[in-house]
Amino acid sequence: MNYSIENFTNYIHSRNWKNAKTFEHFAPHGYVLSFPCDKSKAENKCQNNCDTCRAERKAFEDAVIFIRENGERAKFQNRIYTMLCVGDYQYWTMGNPIETTWVLNKALINDPRCKIKTYWLDRG
Ligand SMILES: [Zn+2]
Repeated sequence: MNYSIENFTNYIHSRNWKNAKTFEHFAPHGYVLSFPCDKSKAENKCQNNCDTCRAERKAFEDAVIFIRENGERAKFQNRIYTMLCVGDYQYWTMGNPIETTWVLNKALINDPRCKIKTYWLDRG
């Protein structure tokens, strides 16, 4: 895989991010969802264009892998995540195996509205 920061940047800019409404008053962030075709089929959400399903899922997984390989450890609410900072945002997933990772999150780095501090464990 020859996946670069440009690929990652293109991906995150091409997504339609939603606001996580239940968190907006203490930890505002956005997210995108991705499901493999078989899961979408099981939930009757597959559009029956499975090449598109597979391409979208692959793009999501590539972005998640890029975060995991290039991110840094960040402690947030007693859990340690791998977060990647790009531009004004930090990107992370909950850390499940890639096959069961459905959500990619982003939040403004050091967002003053966030009531919970992120501790960057790999910084001096
Ligand atoms: Zn499909």
